Amino acid sequence: MTVEDYRKTIQGIEANIGSTRLMAVSKTRTLEEIMAVYQAGARLFGENHVQEIVAKFSGERPAGMEVHMIGHLQSNKVGKVVPLVDMIESVDSVELLRKINNAAARVGKTMDVLLEYNTSNEEAKSGFLTKDSLFACLDEVAELKNIRVRGLMTVGPVDCDPEVKDDLTDKAFKELVAIRKECQERYPSLDFGILSMGMSQDYMIGVRNGSTEVRIGTSIFGPRDYSKK
Ligand SMILES: *Cc1c(COP(=O)(O)O)cnc(C)c1O
Repeated sequence: MTVEDYRKTIQGIEANIGSTRLMAVSKTRTLEEIMAVYQAGARLFGENHVQEIVAKFSGERPAGMEVHMIGHLQSNKVGKVVPLVDMIESVDSVELLRKINNAAARVGKTMDVLLEYNTSNEEAKSGFLTKDSLFACLDEVAELKNIRVRGLMTVGPVDCDPEVKDDLTDKAFKELVAIRKECQERYPSLDFGILSMGMSQDYMIGVRNGSTEVRIGTSIFGPRDYSKK
């Protein structure tokens, strides 16, 4: 696709989502594709593997480009990813958060994070499974000087009957909104401004529920080809 093709696609999505922020999910894409999408106007990029972030985003970046980690993060990769990303959206344990804090302290950075909640309770997915475990993590945040909580993230139901997918997605997103409200009441000194919910198939359900950021791969770049990896 050309920069002009990407520009039309991005403008089409942006017309639908209003003030919600658009993330271009660039996993499996080449740097050339990413640069074309950047030239087409995208500024925020999301990746789910540390290896890909190191390979594609270690060098100098064009003006205004932001990169967020959105995939499950293994603790032994924290040191590598913290210096390279502007936000980690996939924090799902207090142990991980402590490791991120230590790595951020080592490089003199305050790491912006979202806490990922597993709203649809699908085993294959990451994210906190209970509110108690989420709150237990938030109880410790005040002591982690190099962490700045910015909000919550969720992935809608993936593995379900297509007939009920939209309903389940709507339910899952409403659950995240309710949890955010509870977090704001329990932790008034923390910032829960960002709600990252919605992907190619369900971003409008996210937007209707007050998502502030949608993470879109396929609808921008086309279908992913994992066979090349
Ligand atoms: C891959 C991925 C996306 C984007 O998925 P699409 O269906 O291609 O839009 C969004 N969020 C996360 C966490 C992902 O891993």
